[in-house]
Amino acid sequence: MEERLVVTGEVVAIAEEFSPGRGTFESDGKIVAAETGTLLLDQKNHTATIIPKNPVAEPKKKDRVLALVTDIKSSMAICEILTIEGAKRAVTGETEATLHVSNISPQYVESISQAMRTGDIIRAEVIQTTPSIQLSTVGRPFGVILARCSRCRGVLKLKQKSLYCEECEHFEKRKIAEPYGLIQGNP
Ligand SMILES: [Zn+2]
Repeated sequence: MEERLVVTGEVVAIAEEFSPGRGTFESDGKIVAAETGTLLLDQKNHTATIIPKNPVAEPKKKDRVLALVTDIKSSMAICEILTIEGAKRAVTGETEATLHVSNISPQYVESISQAMRTGDIIRAEVIQTTPSIQLSTVGRPFGVILARCSRCRGVLKLKQKSLYCEECEHFEKRKIAEPYGLIQGNP
């Protein structure tokens, strides 16, 4: 299999020898690159495909993601996925996800605001991607990794296994991830 870097619009093969695969199209008897990336000419199946230079990182089931809580509804938290753990690329496509109250903790959670608040950053697991992205924070590594004080918006610190605002001198309740805090390499 031959591999080389090609740019959008480049003629990569002739239609007599190859049929267009992903990332290519046929025009006037020629196979043309529809995007920039690595060209794969499969001699066995006679297809020309291009692996894009910056493959999109779409959240998949079982992925661990960091997400910002953007809104709290009565039975769910609305989140925006910021990064997929382990993926070196930015998230593209659908980034809105929901976390249902029943998927927050193995214990019964009466209301979402006991577990997270708008502006918090959570580590969660993707449990569904279609028709919408659903998250879960059941499990010790999952939950809030960065919580903001509901009074002053300052970052809450872990104190006596609870979250404490040094400014306001009060504790707040969250479903805390272990470990709490942003890990190096995360935003
Ligand atoms: Zn505060």
